[in-house]
Amino acid sequence: MATSAAGSPAPGRTVKCPNCGKPALWAPENRWRPFCSERCRQIDLGAWASDQYRVAGSEPAGDAGEHDDG
Ligand SMILES: [Zn+2]
Repeated sequence: MATSAAGSPAPGRTVKCPNCGKPALWAPENRWRPFCSERCRQIDLGAWASDQYRVAGSEPAGDAGEHDDG
């Protein structure tokens, strides 16, 4: 049985974490993919976020409640 896979990696294998380069599990159970962990994902997001937006100190907290517009 031959399967021609092209493009995204097949589930069950590991990919290289874009942040640290460690093997990250490419599977639905790994919600941080293609990163290896939540930390790497947060770091990667924070990398560009800190460059785009200045860290004022406090993040805008969402209001606890539905805002009905209209
Ligand atoms: Zn990583």
